[in-house]
Order: sequence, then C-alpha cells, then structure tokens
Amino acid sequence: MSNAILVVGGGFSGLTAAIEAAELGHDVYIVEKTPWLGGRVTQLNKYFPKLCPPSCGLEIQFQRIRKNPRIKIFTQAEVIGFSGVKGDYNVRIRINPRHTAPHNVEFNLLASGLQGEVENEFDFGMSKRKALYKAMPFAFPNRYVLDTDALSKADAARVAGNKFLDVEEKPREVEFSVGAVVVATGWKPYDVANLTNLGAGTVKNCISNMQLERLASPFGPTGGRIVRPTDGRTPNHVAFVQCAGSRDQNHLSYCSYICCMATFKHCLYIAEQSPETQITVYYIDLRAPGRYVKVLEKVQALPNVHFIKGKVANAEQAPGDRVRIAAEDAVRGEKLTLDYDLVVLATGMQPSLAGESAPLPLPLDEDGFIAGGEEAGIFAAGCARMPLDVMRSAQSGTAAALKAVQTVKGR
Ligand code: SF4
Repeated sequence: MSNAILVVGGGFSGLTAAIEAAELGHDVYIVEKTPWLGGRVTQLNKYFPKLCPPSCGLEIQFQRIRKNPRIKIFTQAEVIGFSGVKGDYNVRIRINPRHTAPHNVEFNLLASGLQGEVENEFDFGMSKRKALYKAMPFAFPNRYVLDTDALSKADAARVAGNKFLDVEEKPREVEFSVGAVVVATGWKPYDVANLTNLGAGTVKNCISNMQLERLASPFGPTGGRIVRPTDGRTPNHVAFVQCAGSRDQNHLSYCSYICCMATFKHCLYIAEQSPETQITVYYIDLRAPGRYVKVLEKVQALPNVHFIKGKVANAEQAPGDRVRIAAEDAVRGEKLTLDYDLVVLATGMQPSLAGESAPLPLPLDEDGFIAGGEEAGIFAAGCARMPLDVMRSAQSGTAAALKAVQTVKGR
C-alpha cells in the first residue's frame, strides 16, 4: 500500500494537484511528456483572470515545487506500465533522453552557432528553432534539450565532445508505487487543417487564435508585434471567426468555453498595439461567463471593434495576400463578402487524449474527455475532463488532489 500520488501531466491543473497533495504530506510523482512544466499556459502571452504573463503565475507554482522535496518530476516521460488495485498501483515510466547535463548549463552561445533549423512547434510553425534549444526563457526545469533528430551533419560535429552533452544517451525506465492517480493531460488546439472551408493552413494570413497568442508574446516569432505573417505589416483590418470548428457536428460538437474570451483578449491586444486597426468579430453567441462579462463590455466599448452575428461560411485568398470572407449577417439578413488583412480562427480546445491511447485504463467519452475512473482512485483534472480556463483548471486540480488524498489517507 502506498500513500504516494501520481500526477500525469505537468500543466497548470497537474501542477496545482501535485503541490496541494505534496503540501498535505504526500510523495508526488509528476510525469510530463514534454521537456518542461507549465503546459499550454506557457504558450500564452497573457491569461485570465488578471491578464498576467504566464511566467507570473507559473513562477509561484515552480517556487512551491522547488521548496518541496516530496515532489519528483519526470519530464519527457510517459507511463508505459500500470497495474494493481486502488491504493496499491505499480507504475512504470519511460524517460526519453534530453541529451544535456542534469543541471542548468547555459548553451546559448553553442545553440546560436548551430546552422540547422527546424520548424518550431512551440510557435505553431511560425518560427524556426535550433537542435539545441529551450522553448521559453522561463522554462522549468531551466535546462536545454538537444533534439538529435534535428542535428545536421555539421552541427553534429560541433556538439561532439562537449562534456555537457551526451548524444548517445538512451531512454530509461523507472518504477514506483502509488495509491492514487490524478490525470491532468490537458488539451490541444483543434487541428485547423480540418477546417478546409476556412482556409486554415492554405490561405495566407489566415491564422489560429493560438498563433495570434504566439505573435503577441514577447518571446514569440515577432517579439510581440501582431503583424501579418507574409510581410510583417501591421494589419489595418482584422476579422475573428468564432466557433471555428466548435459547436459543429462535423468537428467538435461542444462549446469550447474559452475561445470567446480568447478573442476578447486578442481585441484588447490589437487595440493596444494599433488603435487604428478595425476589427470585426463574426460570432454565433458571445460567451463571457460570470464576471468576465466586464471584459466583453470593455471590448464592446472599443470604437474600432465591430460585432456581426453570423456564421462565416468560407475564407479564400484575395489579392495582396488578403483573406476574403463569405458570411451571413443574421440580424440584417444580408450575405457579406469582405476582404481582411488578417483573419484569426477562434479554434476550440480538444482533450489531448482525443484520438490517442490513454496512458491508463480510463473511460473516455466520444470527444476524448475522461468520463470516469474515480472508483479506481484515478481522478481527472483540468481540461482532460472538460473545456476550462486557467483559473477553473487550477480549481479542478485542487479538487482532484483532495480526492486522491482521501483515497490514500491512512494507508
Ligand atoms: Fe463558440 Fe464562443 Fe463557445 Fe468558443 S466559447 S465555441 S467561440 S461560443
């Protein structure tokens, strides 16, 4: 029997669950598949409710982790074996090699001297990265990763022999026992490539809301300037397409909860950077839960933001790398065809487990959200359960931690 707790996923809800359980006296193992903790929040420029930069809230979490020896972190790791019964599970994980020294070594000079570059997945393909890299300056753990698959022949020769790098490092496996599990595997942006009628991935200057978030970030591909990807110019006319792939039986049947608020935030970003830019938001419904209605009111009061109730049917390339939108104004009963410098698809959130094999024996609903497991002492948290914003994800992490603690209490 074990009173330790496994947390699968090191995003905001997983971190919250891990910290709460550890501060109640439990050993906690965080298993995170990416090289760093923080999850999707690390890709945002700012997040609700206070519109802080991600480093702000995350740094508090990281400090609490640093101070708590009960928390053990495994990054670039996945669960490959899980057996036993509630209160007494055996967990086997695989840790993929990072190829860098186990402490913080500053590789900036070496990394910038490498010639090969690959698409930077952290910026959703809007920038390139080197084979030796750290995705964000506030990375935790504060360590580089060497992506050996991205090493060119010349770069391989450059890194060979560096005593802080080990290109031959192999995956390793670790086993431990836990009494309960929190699954906080988070979410992924709905794949815009599925939205063929809206031009995502094919029409230039038609981007997703997460790409806009990267453009707005000071650590993103443009250093925080919201510009057209094709020519780096500030857009004069921007359109937002709400419910892009959400509330649609052909894509995600549910409301993704966060994408209205994300668009309001993006209107504020643009208004702050270029007050002259005209913004049109095409929507079916505007969702601003609870006190967030104040954010909606603030955006509605901006003189250059216009709302049109109506669904966008189509987006295609127009002259000058502009984007032509065909939509219906449901209030006026008019069909509209208008060109914009930049179009942003407000895509929704899909659980990371959708279309994947779950790391543990867990029931998933038809959309890939976790729908059960509590009787086995396995508790879902955050966006693995349902679409949530950061604040509610943290609350959900706390709730899952308390249930997990109750499960192992007294063992
Ligand atoms: Fe559509 Fe808004 Fe719901 Fe997102 S939050 S699916 S944009 S109604």
